[in-house]
Amino acid sequence: MRQTLQNQQRLCGVTEALADIVARHPALEDIATAYALLATAREEAAKALPRQSLLGAQPALEPFASGQPLLTPVLEGLYVLPADVVARLHTATRVMLPAAAQAFPALAEDLAKLAVRLQAQGAAPDALYGQDLAGALLSAIALGPEDGPPARSMEELAQELKIAPTALQIAARESFMAVLFHEATLLAGLVDQEAWRQPYCPVCGGGPDAGILKEGKEDSEFLIAKAGQLWFHCGQCAALWRFPRLRCAGCGCEDPARMELLLAEGGQREEQERAQLCSECKQYCTTLNMVDRSDLVNLEMLPMALLHLDMLAQQRGYAPLAPSPWNSLG
Ligand SMILES: [Zn+2]
Ligand SMILES: [Zn+2]
Repeated sequence: MRQTLQNQQRLCGVTEALADIVARHPALEDIATAYALLATAREEAAKALPRQSLLGAQPALEPFASGQPLLTPVLEGLYVLPADVVARLHTATRVMLPAAAQAFPALAEDLAKLAVRLQAQGAAPDALYGQDLAGALLSAIALGPEDGPPARSMEELAQELKIAPTALQIAARESFMAVLFHEATLLAGLVDQEAWRQPYCPVCGGGPDAGILKEGKEDSEFLIAKAGQLWFHCGQCAALWRFPRLRCAGCGCEDPARMELLLAEGGQREEQERAQLCSECKQYCTTLNMVDRSDLVNLEMLPMALLHLDMLAQQRGYAPLAPSPWNSLG
């Protein structure tokens, strides 16, 4: 789908998308700028990572056919700290930490401290330097089964490193997301878009942080429908997948009486930008309607472009389908 949009030249870069968001929503300048810095860094980090997926050259596709995300074998085994995942996370921190420091100036000092330790070589194993520290970050992300090997939580690790837990969480989350983002690019060709209709991502199992409607017919429709096909964007790895337009991804409800389209008032694009609210489960997803539109979109910046709708939906008591530090507006 990314490719079909590319072919129609409807995709733009992060910088262009950011300028558009700031022009339309000046109050969002700080948060959107921080988001853009990290989106750009994710693309940079991907270039520094190996060209082969963590799944190897010939991943088994049978579990995928029954609804299991491609990366499940990797994600379920994270707590044993596989060397290739630790190495990739370590590589990603080199790009992501300086970008995070720029995005969050208040945490810059702690992030720099962490970056220095990650570059250094530890004298003893588990001294929390270099690859060992990357391993500790991964174990804090993974926190395996209760009977598994003991792992430090994010808070415990932050305390040992004498840095703010928020700085550590951002460093770990953003670096790990960069690894997943790279995987999604490598694995895109393996996703059977005609078969996958789950409410979670076919690559990493994450939830949708936004969706777009593009030209095309729904499964149940014979002719090309004006309303378009719904494609979700994964909040973790940025993969795209199709989902039935009139179904709630939170609870599966298909009752039109329980669905409401929330539009922002004013502005020229209120018709295209909406949040789909489900009164059954009180969750929502923001979407951009690209049918009959000619302006450009950046898929990675889409959640920021629609953030004003998150505010409206949350004011009405609805929760985002894929909560993140960005869209949890309290
Ligand atoms: Zn994903
Ligand atoms: Zn629902």
